[in-house]
Amino acid sequence: KEKTLALIKPDAVSKLGTIVIALRENDIQVCKAKMVQFSRKDAALFYEEHQSKPFFNSLIDFMTSGPVVAMEIMGTNVTKKWRELLGPTSTAEARSTAPNSIRAMFGSDDTRNAAHGSDSADSAARELEFFFPSRARC
Ligand code: ATP
Repeated sequence: KEKTLALIKPDAVSKLGTIVIALRENDIQVCKAKMVQFSRKDAALFYEEHQSKPFFNSLIDFMTSGPVVAMEIMGTNVTKKWRELLGPTSTAEARSTAPNSIRAMFGSDDTRNAAHGSDSADSAARELEFFFPSRARC
């Protein structure tokens, strides 16, 4: 079974219970979870691939606006499965094409979109290491 990162963004931390139930219903296990407050530096590092994008600053403002919940989740094809549960990045698109998705239900716009999922096995490995380093710290 594969593992990936599910990151609940500040706007959906209050929906954590509903999201965890959806994971269970889809045979996805939560192996690790932690709530953290992103510093601007860590948020910028996590999203470094988007540094030059016009929405970068508002993304960092949003991601540091409150705590996030990082989860290591596990299941068959879980990277793909979790991104399907999330729906498209844009809330408007999610509402029109995937009305039962997490972003359709809990997102608000293109930036405040409830949760994140790694987009490949490589990014899953990098992002899991980011939140749950193998040289463990708390
Ligand atoms: P995530 O990486 O959070 O799962 P994603 O892979 O669907 O989202 P990315 O293209 O990696 O989307 O963008 C990272 C995040 O940046 C998005 O989730 C969203 O919060 C924000 N974002 C992406 N595109 C836009 C945009 N056009 N306008 C505003 N914010 C955006």
